[in-house]
Amino acid sequence: MTRIYFQAGPTTLPKEVMQQAKEEWDDFQGTGLNIMEHSHRGKDYEDIHEQAKNRMRSLLDIPDTHDVLFLQGGASLQFAMIPMNLIPDGKTAKYILTGSWSEKAYQEAQRIGSSEAVISGKDSAYRTLPVMDYVPSENDAYLHITSNNTIYGTQWPDLNAFSHPTLIADMSSDIMSRPFSVDKYGLIYAGAQKNLGPSGVTAVIIRKDLLQESNAVPSILSYSVHAKNKSLYNTPPVYSIYLLNLVLDWVERSGGVNEMEVRNQKKAKVIYDAIDQSHDFYNGYATPDSRSNMNVTFTLGSKELEQQFIKESEENGIYGLKGHRSVGGFRASIYNAVPQESCDSLATFMVQFQEKYG
Ligand code: PMP
Repeated sequence: MTRIYFQAGPTTLPKEVMQQAKEEWDDFQGTGLNIMEHSHRGKDYEDIHEQAKNRMRSLLDIPDTHDVLFLQGGASLQFAMIPMNLIPDGKTAKYILTGSWSEKAYQEAQRIGSSEAVISGKDSAYRTLPVMDYVPSENDAYLHITSNNTIYGTQWPDLNAFSHPTLIADMSSDIMSRPFSVDKYGLIYAGAQKNLGPSGVTAVIIRKDLLQESNAVPSILSYSVHAKNKSLYNTPPVYSIYLLNLVLDWVERSGGVNEMEVRNQKKAKVIYDAIDQSHDFYNGYATPDSRSNMNVTFTLGSKELEQQFIKESEENGIYGLKGHRSVGGFRASIYNAVPQESCDSLATFMVQFQEKYG
């Protein structure tokens, strides 16, 4: 049975992508080999590498002032690479805390250089995004934000609203889901395993003036080394980048990021409607003004009812709804590749469950 699937990542890839990967499994474009068996220095793979980069560029309208890198180590390695590369002596990195992932990014920066959390939403248990009234200071190395808070289900509504000379964003859980101006950002990073493809590759978009060489940073952790070597400094995750390229091709053919945004809003709405029309049978975790279109979080009145909900949802073919252990309840992750029909099925199930137990 096909699962209706809402896992937070790794998660669903577009059906068409899986089909093409299957067709090319033991014969990539007449070579008699899987692409993962090809040398990363050979023409077949290099074409994929370039295509993936160019697709990132065209889909996000990335200007020539910025480079696109494909790295490893997940978004978590970026938590360390960013402060290692981008806190010059005498400057302080500034962080806005909107959830566990921004806390982790900040904790890593604290181990590495001078850093400070300037705004935090922790007082609201990260249900609400804090007021963004930070005024940049001369002394800032950069300002770090998390665009979508995967665990709590909150998302900054407008990525063009921030203004800082060196703005850095963790977009792991909402890159490619909506348009924004890349030129407002010094660095953007995203682990691939939600909207870009499988785990194993991390996309980094970096403004070229930030590519500074430093003997203090090991080569493998240096943005400038990776940029100079076109993300082929060492062996890249060939198969992950191959799949990422297929996912980006699918986004292109589906109408690009503008179309993704329209679809994502519509998908999220049916589930939020089921919550809002439930007269508090379902309780949304995020406050309505901070809600994410990628991760819909909600709870039920009792642990027993929550267990029953998981049991019956799985009996109905719906999987991956269990919330993160720090929030409890449920989380429906509805990234780009999750179809509208899955969200409709969940909303219908939620209404039926309420009719039975409400
Ligand atoms: N940032 C965000 C917003 C995330 O959602 C995640 C993973 N869920 C991470 C960082 C960590 O990513 P990784 O496991 O790729 O290191």
